[in-house]
Amino acid sequence: MRHTTEHKTRKNLCATKFCRNTRETRSSLCSKCRKRLYKERHPVQYTYSYVKANARRRKKEWSLTMEEFLDFVTSTGYMIGKGRTGDKLSIDRIDHRQGYHLGNIQVMTVSANSIKAQLEKDCPF
Ligand SMILES: [Zn+2]
Repeated sequence: MRHTTEHKTRKNLCATKFCRNTRETRSSLCSKCRKRLYKERHPVQYTYSYVKANARRRKKEWSLTMEEFLDFVTSTGYMIGKGRTGDKLSIDRIDHRQGYHLGNIQVMTVSANSIKAQLEKDCPF
């Protein structure tokens, strides 16, 4: 029966309209849609794990809890202003030899941060 076959195939697809990806096990969505939905619903949690993973990849220390991070991003306006280009906001480590700890992080524009990084690179200390 043709109908049954079609239904079966559809069952393995992502529930998102127009998405043709195969859904993940124990989920109605594919990995892409699940990630996108999580990002939309939990922007701070998403950013937290993203920044933390980046820090770990660059072998920087990290001691910020989710609560501390939430406090930081909401009080600084980071969530609204963040981005990758010049006048967007980035998280700067005040003392670049220290990791991401409460009291060692501040918000800085991307361009200011890259100037600072350049100065630190040139600095012999
Ligand atoms: Zn999908």
